[in-house]
Amino acid sequence: MDAVIMRLIDLPPGVNGMTVLDENGDFNIYINARNSNDQSALAFIHESAHISNGHFGEAVHASLLEWSLSNDADGSDSQTQ
Ligand SMILES: [Zn+2]
Repeated sequence: MDAVIMRLIDLPPGVNGMTVLDENGDFNIYINARNSNDQSALAFIHESAHISNGHFGEAVHASLLEWSLSNDADGSDSQTQ
């Protein structure tokens, strides 16, 4: 419960990472193995922010959660250039 498991896998181009809450209550972070190490690190920070901000179980549209993270210095796309 509440474990965080990170895996590097090939995700579609343009997808930096995703987090899935599984049936055991563990967070599974998937990071796109196609990206550079720097992009992967930022994606991990971004996905970790979703977990630490308690975005799982909130009945809020995902795009609103993405918007709230993109306004923090948390490794969203605007910090990658
Ligand atoms: Zn996100």
